Parts: sequence; C-alpha cells; structure tokens
Amino acid sequence: MALFQEKQYVGFATLPNQVHRKSVKKGFDFTLMVAGESGMGKSTLVNSLFLTDLYKDRKLLNAEERINQTVEIIKHTVDIEEKGVKLKLTIVDTPGFGDAVNNNECWKPITDYIDQQFEQYFRDESGLNRKNIQDNRVHCCLYFIPPFGHGLRPVDVEFMKALHEKVNIIPLIAKADCLTPNEIKKLKDRIREEIDKFGIKVYQFPECDSDEDEEFKQLDKELKECTPFAVIGSNTVVEARGQRVRGRLYPWGIVEVENQSHCDFVKLRNMLIRSHMHDLKDVTCDVHYENYRAQCIQEMTRCVCVSRKDENKYKHKYKYKQ
Ligand code: GDP
Repeated sequence: MALFQEKQYVGFATLPNQVHRKSVKKGFDFTLMVAGESGMGKSTLVNSLFLTDLYKDRKLLNAEERINQTVEIIKHTVDIEEKGVKLKLTIVDTPGFGDAVNNNECWKPITDYIDQQFEQYFRDESGLNRKNIQDNRVHCCLYFIPPFGHGLRPVDVEFMKALHEKVNIIPLIAKADCLTPNEIKKLKDRIREEIDKFGIKVYQFPECDSDEDEEFKQLDKELKECTPFAVIGSNTVVEARGQRVRGRLYPWGIVEVENQSHCDFVKLRNMLIRSHMHDLKDVTCDVHYENYRAQCIQEMTRCVCVSRKDENKYKHKYKYKQ
C-alpha cells in the first residue's frame, strides 16, 4: 500500500533539459525586416543591436538615383554565437522604401516578399522532404517613423495597414536624440492615438502570467507603456563617465545608446532578443502564416469545386452530343 502512496521519481522531469539540449544543438534562426525611408538610421541600429557590421558593402545612392527608385529587398545573413548558442540572423532590408518622388504603393514589393516566403514555406511543408525546411518567413518588422513630424504620415499608415496582417510590426521613433523628452512623450502619445484611430494592428506583447514575480510584471508594464520605442543608434564608441560606450558625440555632450534615460534602445534590444524573440516567431507561425495557409487552402478548394462543376458541365454536354 505504502508503495502506491509514495511519489516515485520516474524521470520525465528531465524533459525540459532534453528539449533544451536538442534546440541548442539545432541552433536558432530569426528573420528581422527593417523598413523606413533611407537615412533614418536603420543600418546603424541593426549594427548596434547585434554588434556586427552587416552593411560592409552597401552602396549609397545619390538624390538623382533615388528619384525614380523602386523598392529593393536585400537580405544579409550572419551566424552569431554566444555561450555556445548559435543564432542564424537574417536582416531583410528594404532600401528605396519612401524615397521616390511618387511613393504610391511603395509597400507592394515588401508585401509580395513576405507572401513569397509564406508560399515557399507552404510548398516545402506540403512536399516530401519536410524535415529540412529552410524557414525564411519574416518574424518581425521594425518600422522607422521619422522624428520630425507630428505623428504618422500617410505613407506610414498605408505601409502598416498593408503589412499588419502578414508580419509583427514594431514601430520605432528613429533618431530620438533629435527630440527633447517632452517632445518624445507627445509624439509617442500621438502615434499611439493614430495607431488606434486607423485600426493598425501592431505587435501586441503577450499578457504576463499571473504567477510571474513582481519585478517581471513591472518590467512587462514598462515595456508595454514605452511603445513606440524611441531609439538612437551609433556605430562609434565614445568615452563617457570614464567608460567606453556606444554613443554619439555632440559639441554639447554625449548621447549614449544604452543609457535608458537617453532612449529606449535597451528596452527594444531586451524585448527583441532576450524576452520576446520566441513569441515573435510563434505569432508569425500561429497567426500570420496560419492566415495565409487558410486562405491558400480555401482558394485551392474553391478551384477544385469550380473545376468539378466544369467537369459536370462538360459531361452533360458530352452526353447531350452523344
Ligand atoms: P539607413 O539609410 O536608414 O540605413 O540610415 P543609416 O544607418 O545609414 O544612417 C544615416 C545617417 O544617420 C548616418 O549619418 C548615421 O550616422 C546617422 N544616424 C544613425 N542613427 C542615428 C541616430 O540615432 N541619431 C542621429 N542623430 N543620427 C543617426
């Protein structure tokens, strides 16, 4: 009797370790898209986020070349490793977006690219070799809003509305060092209001579990309150308070990228890399890709029904002729 009452150790408590070992061995991948007009600091921010130089061979266009420029999609991939954990990071850059004189539908090549990646995944998933699918779906899009306006511009609204059902959009206020703290607050409030007003669905942080500790809940609250993140990027290291830090040196002082009282860079980096990378991938897979997949299947079923109808029509004609 005692034998049944005693809790015996079976060993399935090691399951998380087994999953951990397997995932570390396999490595991780993450695809991040950056969009916003040129000169908004996209490449500088990406370099600051991942501490790599992803844009070594970039060719900068002059104004004349940008007048009629069409949006290009350029992929940069790097393998980074930290404490034995490998991450294959793909940055999808969208040079040319919002740069031309006529920016009508300039988001189209970007939505097409996202759809193509879904289509490729759908094909691979329906094929024979499903084990080694290369997942190129875009997990997150950082959208750079200029700091100079009074809120969203029409092109920002159009872009986000065109993409919000396909990808997790995280809006950012670029070059936040151009604004005072008060101006940043006003601009953030305005952007949040306009996002609501235009029914734009940006990435929603998941609800915090009730059993999380107080510190975690506080961080989560701060994170939610600080969107859209006001960011600063820099490719240079400067000396501030006796320390070498990534920052921007001005005649009146130094702006530190990683100083939380200067901008939201650290919050963005923590969210993107340390706390929400997995959720961004899950939402891509479970929401955006599922929507695409459901539409595809619906379309395919409709095609089959239509061709069956045609077949019946044809059979009928055939009988009639006989
Ligand atoms: P991209 O065309 O959007 O990739 O922009 P870049 O990263 O090439 O940056 C364009 C210019 O803006 C460069 O001179 C950068 O040094 C500068 N820049 C980048 N980030 C910031 C920022 O946060 N604040 C300010 N003031 N300038 C920045």
